[in-house]
Amino acid sequence: MLEKTGIATKEMFEKMLPSAERRKRGPYVVIECYEQIPCNPCVTSCAAHAVTMKDINDLPKCNHDVCTGCTLCVSICPGLACFVIDETVGNGKIKITLPYEMSPLPEKGNVVDALGRDGSVVGKAEVVRVNSGKKLDRTSVITVLVDDDLIYDVRSIAVR
Ligand code: SF4
Ligand code: SF4
Repeated sequence: MLEKTGIATKEMFEKMLPSAERRKRGPYVVIECYEQIPCNPCVTSCAAHAVTMKDINDLPKCNHDVCTGCTLCVSICPGLACFVIDETVGNGKIKITLPYEMSPLPEKGNVVDALGRDGSVVGKAEVVRVNSGKKLDRTSVITVLVDDDLIYDVRSIAVR
């Protein structure tokens, strides 16, 4: 499926998740980097040294026991492949922090369309954080609150 559509399957996504125990402890990164390319900013930017690869052509591997969920790699990854998920919110909600390079930027408190992996609308998302500081170059980092059953689906947002 990935080869034909560019869309990772749910099974591929689930292999990137940490243990159930780690998922309950706080935000963690999901690195949806499935194809070997010569690239490693996720490794070099992580102050916690959570991401490793054997060589620059290898796929990144994350040690979720040391990942703090800081979201730095979300803005650094040129492939927009890093997301941070927080399942500790409760009330059937999770937070997803995602890279965003569209205009206009959303504002905190906006309710926007949550977009799935194929760009279709899969639900609503409440914007809870917007980080677009100069240090982030052109990639802003947006945190949204969504229904927890959308954990696989939501990979972007649309501001109407
Ligand atoms: S979220 Fe932070 S700690 Fe975790 S892999 Fe990314 S940069 Fe490292
Ligand atoms: S920076 Fe992004 S695209 Fe590059 S290897 Fe890491 S996860 Fe993959």
